[in-house]
Amino acid sequence: MENIILIRYEEIFLKGLNRNLFENRLVKNIKRQLDGIGVIKVTRSQSRIYIESHDPGFDYEEAKERLKRVFGVASISPVVKVPVSYEAIKDAAVAIVGDLIKRKGYRTFKVEAKRGDKSFPMNSPQICADLGGVLLDRFTELRVNVHQPDFILYVEVRDYSYLYSEIIPMAKGLPTGTGGKATLLLSGGIDSPVAGWMIAKRGVELEAVYFHSYPYTSERARDKVVKLAEILSKWCMGIKLHIVPFTEIQLEINSKCPQDYLTIIMRRYMMKIAQRIAEKGGSLGLITGEAIGQVASQTMESMLVTNHAVTMPVYRPCVGMDKNEVIEIARRIETFETSILPYEDCCTVFVAKHPVTRPFLDKTLEYEKVLDEERLITEAVNQTEVVELL
Ligand code: ATP
Ligand code: MG
Repeated sequence: MENIILIRYEEIFLKGLNRNLFENRLVKNIKRQLDGIGVIKVTRSQSRIYIESHDPGFDYEEAKERLKRVFGVASISPVVKVPVSYEAIKDAAVAIVGDLIKRKGYRTFKVEAKRGDKSFPMNSPQICADLGGVLLDRFTELRVNVHQPDFILYVEVRDYSYLYSEIIPMAKGLPTGTGGKATLLLSGGIDSPVAGWMIAKRGVELEAVYFHSYPYTSERARDKVVKLAEILSKWCMGIKLHIVPFTEIQLEINSKCPQDYLTIIMRRYMMKIAQRIAEKGGSLGLITGEAIGQVASQTMESMLVTNHAVTMPVYRPCVGMDKNEVIEIARRIETFETSILPYEDCCTVFVAKHPVTRPFLDKTLEYEKVLDEERLITEAVNQTEVVELL
């Protein structure tokens, strides 16, 4: 029934002079996301984007599904577009409402009209009243209910007339590619994919780094992280995943540093290596899934010591969230089911019985001195494997 998709965006309005840049990027991302499902025409008019296809094979359902993963899209509506003529509006309204009654069993409605084209002879209240009357005459089972109708028929008279009944909320955020790039420390857990998604939502491109401790962590643990990166990449138009061999560093730390400081020193190495990789790839910050107090390595004291290992900003979007709040997002972005697959990650292999919860920075720096840091880091970076996900 609908022949076009209307796309709304919100926050981009706030961007003043940058607005054009944001809109252009959004259109580009939409085209890219819809690539391969039929020939489309994308037009911009009056702060909206319209997608039209005259391709009989064009799959509107698939298009709607894919648009859910385009940051910057606030909501969409499947729309019937007809000329600016009241006869055409009436015909379209009758067709849409007839379909809703038949398909969804709807019985109550109201009309909301907006006249953007002031040369149109009826004003908005007149369109509502008259069209409501036409529909009541035509469908005797129908009633008006202004407070809680089964559906609202929206009529907008602009450059064309647009009629629709559905407003589907979308991801919101800012278009990917408008916010620079950041490097996500991606483990196989629940938090880090969510953290990456939250930063990506702000228009930031992602690269990801995974520390792999083969054979202490299995190939399946690696596959799980690749899978998570793949799911994330559908939201942010591709991810470069760096898989860093971490076993030697862990063995070194394990054999040379005090047991209760193993985790914190290991985490500092992760940060340092991630920063090295981030700098090479042009990232402007690091992202982790840390939340205050979640585990011993995420107390305020531990985070101070971890953070001290790097100079880049570290973004921790989950920092103030409860686990359940993180899980809710993980489910929504479809990483949860993969995250809970039971393959151990490297942090569970080399854990001390009693990791320090309040590490001291001076002690940490002292304990670390026995390690040949430059060699360990350079070797790990040089042996890093890169997987490009699209
Ligand atoms: P997650 O659910 O994201 O794994 P977590 O609650 O298990 O987090 P930690 O294991 O302490 O917490 O890790 C804290 C953060 O450090 C993770 O969110 C992630 O950003 C990073 N991290 C931990 N392990 C790895 C790893 N093997 N590779 C890459 N990053 C890691
Ligand atoms: Mg983890």
